[in-house]
Amino acid sequence: MGFEFSERLKALPPYLFAELDRKKQEKIAQGVDVIDLGVGDPDLPTPQPIIEAGKRAMENPENHKYPSYVGMRSYREAVSRWYKRRFDVELDPDSEVIALIGSKEGVAHFPLAFVNSGDVVICPDPAYPVYKIGTMFAGGTPYTVPLKEENGFLPDLGSIPQEVVDRAKIIWVNYPNNPTSANATEEFYRELISWAKRHSIIVASDNAYSEIYLGDKKPISILQIEGAKDVAIEFHSLSKTYNMTGWRIGMAVGNEELVKGLGKVKTNVDSGQFNAVQEAGIAALNLPEEELDKLRATYRERREVMSSALRKIGLEALDSDVTFYLWIKVPSGYTSSEFVSKLLDEAGIVCTPGNGFGDAGEGYFRISLTLPTDRLVEAAKRIESLKL
Ligand SMILES: *Cc1c(COP(=O)(O)O)cnc(C)c1O
Repeated sequence: MGFEFSERLKALPPYLFAELDRKKQEKIAQGVDVIDLGVGDPDLPTPQPIIEAGKRAMENPENHKYPSYVGMRSYREAVSRWYKRRFDVELDPDSEVIALIGSKEGVAHFPLAFVNSGDVVICPDPAYPVYKIGTMFAGGTPYTVPLKEENGFLPDLGSIPQEVVDRAKIIWVNYPNNPTSANATEEFYRELISWAKRHSIIVASDNAYSEIYLGDKKPISILQIEGAKDVAIEFHSLSKTYNMTGWRIGMAVGNEELVKGLGKVKTNVDSGQFNAVQEAGIAALNLPEEELDKLRATYRERREVMSSALRKIGLEALDSDVTFYLWIKVPSGYTSSEFVSKLLDEAGIVCTPGNGFGDAGEGYFRISLTLPTDRLVEAAKRIESLKL
């Protein structure tokens, strides 16, 4: 019939992993035991109490009806209690919390509430692609600000041209960061909030990895910064914290108007998340901290196994104690894609080339620690025997 995709779809950036996927399938067909360290999707199961709560809730016919658009009151209360306990941030469950069908859903929809055609949205590079794509779907223009190693992978706000600042509606930040595994300092957040207020720009913070910390220092929420609630909304998710990527449950919290705008969009495009999933979410948010300590210990062990293997062949992952990613400079003489291809050809290992997250990611690759530890140990062995 020759149906043509919309300009919106045609404008999407090319899918950079297509060639890598093809090569991976080719290797598998050749009988190679491929180890995929590319995807950031926890391998461990959802903790049992969460599953039990979901099962129980599924049996209740009350939950078989349309859920509330903004999420059950009890779920929003659980979010509010969790933010108080974890970050000492007060949130009104009625006006400052909304349930999301996974945080990706909220991140993608948020610009529809505040961006008009021609408005600029400042997005980091390298980054989770949804900030840029959500902006484009809303008719906005993404402006990418590079995250550079010499700045601790924080955006240099002073480098953004005045005419961009004048047209900017939103700035996205994501710490602990995917893909670089960098974390933000409190000073950075303070500077960001005061800059955003000066220029009337919305700060949208993606805090999906706040609980994936391997040391003693816990990542903070931007809402802990004084005055943040005047300009900021934070997107959070149960996906990474509780091994719940498949359940699709998250939340957006913070400035009342920003939450309300997102709610208006959602009311018109979706009908909320299944109550049973929200009940499971409540159980997750109430889980004792010790349960998560075990998970963090696992990631810590895996990070050590992988970093020490990389060190043996002269590669150094960014020194970090947050997220389950390693961000590594490729050896000199290789592009990101070339080195990732070499890893696949010579070790049967799939990693993500840094440029897949944006131009500023060129020169790096990312390893995800979300495979069973014995597979990571095997991958580490193969890396150690690699000839560079
Ligand atoms: C995994 C991830 C999310 C969470 O996505 P969900 O839709 O909640 O599963 C959000 N932001 C970043 C940067 C991520 O890596």
